[in-house]
Amino acid sequence: MGTVCDGETFSSEFLTTARELGATAAQVFDAALIVVDERVRLKCNVPVCKNYNVSLMCPPNVMPLDEFRNVLARFQKALIVQIAYDVPDRMLERIHAAEDLATLYTDDAYLKGWDQTYLVAKNTLDTIAARLEADAFKKGLKFATAFSAGKCTLCEACAGVGNRCRNPYKARPSMEAMGIDVGETARNAGLPFNESASDRIVLNALVLLC
Ligand code: SF4
Repeated sequence: MGTVCDGETFSSEFLTTARELGATAAQVFDAALIVVDERVRLKCNVPVCKNYNVSLMCPPNVMPLDEFRNVLARFQKALIVQIAYDVPDRMLERIHAAEDLATLYTDDAYLKGWDQTYLVAKNTLDTIAARLEADAFKKGLKFATAFSAGKCTLCEACAGVGNRCRNPYKARPSMEAMGIDVGETARNAGLPFNESASDRIVLNALVLLC
């Protein structure tokens, strides 16, 4: 017989901590509502992402989806955390002016804005996810495991395939790297998420609690 999961017991403490550290929303919910879909992984390599098989925290260098589904089935409760921010006007102008969105990745003005907004939010989200995982562990939820958003940004350039991670206890795969449909999962948890909105970014992290 499995152990009783008391992730809900600490819910208000987790949510308070998340908000104090800068989350715009957070929710404890049933882990059965987490959606894993092979099509999320498909989008990592068709069209191929520049981090695919480069970052140690990105596919195909992370756990296969079948294995992750088996792991997920052992969890009863999870915690989702969001950081939302408005895309600055100067970036929206570049987005609307671009005939091919791929050109944004070589647009210095756009990339500077990206660093000043996305990276700040992503670093905050990483900090919150790691802190909540540690808090859960200290409360006896020994299998608590955090996933963040996007590629690992702890190093300017990843050590790369065949090398050891430089931050083995800090680096985390993203939810999407694990094949999680972030939008469906956030909505199932009762939090807002609009994939087609170009003027507001919502980053999501997940902590599997118990
Ligand atoms: S911590 Fe550095 S080496 Fe490790 S996955 Fe992240 S970027 Fe790569």
